[in-house]
Amino acid sequence: SVNKMSFKYEDVENIYKKIKSMKQKGKNADYIPDLQIVNPNIYAISVCNIKGEIMNFGDYRTEVGIESTSKVFTLALALNMYSIKKLISHVGDKDETREFNSIKDVLEIKNHTINSFVNAGAMATTSLLYDKTKSNDTNEKAMNKIILENMEDFAGRTLKVNEHLYLSEYKTSHHNQLLIDKLVSYRRFYGDPQTVLKSYTKQCSVMVTSKDIAVMAATLANNGTNPITHNKLVNEEKVEYIVDHMAQHGLYNESEQWWESTHFPVKSGVGGVIMIVIPGVMGIGIVSPPLNKYGNSFKGVETGKLLANIPIY
Ligand code: GLN
Repeated sequence: SVNKMSFKYEDVENIYKKIKSMKQKGKNADYIPDLQIVNPNIYAISVCNIKGEIMNFGDYRTEVGIESTSKVFTLALALNMYSIKKLISHVGDKDETREFNSIKDVLEIKNHTINSFVNAGAMATTSLLYDKTKSNDTNEKAMNKIILENMEDFAGRTLKVNEHLYLSEYKTSHHNQLLIDKLVSYRRFYGDPQTVLKSYTKQCSVMVTSKDIAVMAATLANNGTNPITHNKLVNEEKVEYIVDHMAQHGLYNESEQWWESTHFPVKSGVGGVIMIVIPGVMGIGIVSPPLNKYGNSFKGVETGKLLANIPIY
């Protein structure tokens, strides 16, 4: 049961019912074949406060691909290895002006650094985990392992890569390949392109539930300590950078509009995940695969906007 420092159960339940019956205006991601065929009716909300108390609604046991929400946790890993200063100079913390995988933004934005949450910057962030003293094979294994284990630490349970989803995206990842090629040409990429593309695509193919996302978000809300396992995963100063990055860039070019209506740091994924962090209070995971025109979960965004209007007790 959730007492203090959370939403009232009935308040979230009302929002759940309201959005569940709302006419779906979104559409599943169609540029990754396996995402196109996911059941569009999946809908779930989970809330986990910093005491580790959890509320679940709807399909909270259903796993979906974490996709771009993984970028938050790979940023955390990179920040455990390198300074905030290095992340800013090598990857960037600037506003995107176009869609999440814009090639034009890479060409036009100053220094060709954008931020860790657009595809280009996210892959550059993953490339920071590449160890140039080791072979590509060794790197691929090591990166896959550390990235998965880190997400497991945030979720407080064992997670799995969906190999079918991975291959479905990897075989069609020409666009991401092109983004990497541009970054390489500007010397804004820090590992072997193919190896990093594989590891990045794999990190996107980790399967999660709304409940996992709520616990992962609650770990950030709790200053980097998982509220269930009590493991300290990131130091406070770096959590602040991550949460700030979410506030600035979490929903790509819908970020500003979202911030004005919610004031919630957030991150989306094209599998339909919306992850919200309310610092010092709670984490929220929402899943609904159909996306709005910005590539963010349509019902997830609508749910978040309603959650911003209910009181926290
Ligand atoms: N794996 C997806 C990609 O690289 C993630 C994009 C997203 O979730 N916005 O395109």
